[in-house]
Amino acid sequence: MDAGCLWMRRLASSPSPLLRPSLFSHSFSLVASPLIPTRAYADARGSEVSPSGNKALLKGMSYSELENWVQCQGFRPGQALMLWKRLYGNDVWAHSSEELEGLNKDFKRMLSDEAELKALNLKDIRTAADGTRKILFSLVDGLAVETVIIPCDRGRNTVCVSSQVGCAMNCQFCYTGRMGLTRNLSVAEIVDQAVFARRLFSDQIGAISNVVFMGMGEPLHNIDNVIKASDIMVHEQGLHFSPRKVTVSTSGLVPQLKRFLHESNCALAVSLNATTDEVRNWIMPINRKYNIAVLLQTLREELKSKKNYKVLFEYVMLAGVNDSLEDAKRLIDLVQGIPCKINLIKFNPHCESRFRPTPEEKMIEFRNILAESGCTVFLRLSRGDDQMAACGQLGKLGMVQAPVLRVPQNFESAVASL
Ligand code: SF4
Repeated sequence: MDAGCLWMRRLASSPSPLLRPSLFSHSFSLVASPLIPTRAYADARGSEVSPSGNKALLKGMSYSELENWVQCQGFRPGQALMLWKRLYGNDVWAHSSEELEGLNKDFKRMLSDEAELKALNLKDIRTAADGTRKILFSLVDGLAVETVIIPCDRGRNTVCVSSQVGCAMNCQFCYTGRMGLTRNLSVAEIVDQAVFARRLFSDQIGAISNVVFMGMGEPLHNIDNVIKASDIMVHEQGLHFSPRKVTVSTSGLVPQLKRFLHESNCALAVSLNATTDEVRNWIMPINRKYNIAVLLQTLREELKSKKNYKVLFEYVMLAGVNDSLEDAKRLIDLVQGIPCKINLIKFNPHCESRFRPTPEEKMIEFRNILAESGCTVFLRLSRGDDQMAACGQLGKLGMVQAPVLRVPQNFESAVASL
């Protein structure tokens, strides 16, 4: 047997240092839980295997990897295409070998012995008053992750997927950020969220056409797995999402953002949320490492070589913090020369938050100033917030929590004490 066909278990090393930011520090460091290491399960060539180590996790494989694996098991590569279509297409979304109708018996027996079709276990579904669903999944190591389905009247149903358990970025308005990072999700764990979404809800709400990587985690902090998972999602013989409808969001990890723009055709969203470094250093500590000027200049340069490509800026509006008329004017200047759209997002309060949402009339006024200057700008009001399914509300706090950062003096009156 080819050595490459021997499936072994190995723990991939974590990219995340276990450092915490100081309340008074002007530097930035990542927040990861010291309790559980970040780990992924992979074979000797980097493909994912089940935690017991003796089964291949099919959803962790690209199409060409699946073809190789099928051949290594002694079957024709054509069987791989039939399997791929049953995992991801034809309204099958198979989760067990019993659901693989039309495949030959020996092939199915081999799959039942050697492969795992499912990477997540469904624990709970909560439905918010506006129809948004929050799905809770348990993972093989006992951790949990959340996925959100956002139905839309105009047929633009969206699944919001998570890329990490927790997050190291410590954005001050975000509930997930308070968790710190526990670990990266594997490729299979990311892809299976989209498969579950279609399998569970296509009958109820119609086709799910859009994917946003805006659930738990900073996607570009888990860039290898996110790029591979999004490649699997857009494969035309499988889930076949349009690359323009798969959006990966980042808080502003500049080197990874450059890599993403070079290696992926999917859309990019950048969570901007402030127009001065003073505010962004506070509410998004990643800004201490890559400030607004560096972030935006990188986008300006990188997007020159991308045709018909617009970055989406997300701007969560926080009362008294980033929603003044001066902010609107600065925002117009900041995005000059960057092909972009801007989403103004209503802040979703939660019990760990000191911020208040900007009133809707003020959001409209802010939007109008941007629109009058020629910006393409949209208002995004809250979805699913009564079930903590809205943007920035996902996750569950454990014993270890990321620190609350010191409020700059000018903004003390804008925030409540916890
Ligand atoms: S907003 Fe996104 S990047 Fe920031 S802490 Fe929350 S999940 Fe992480």
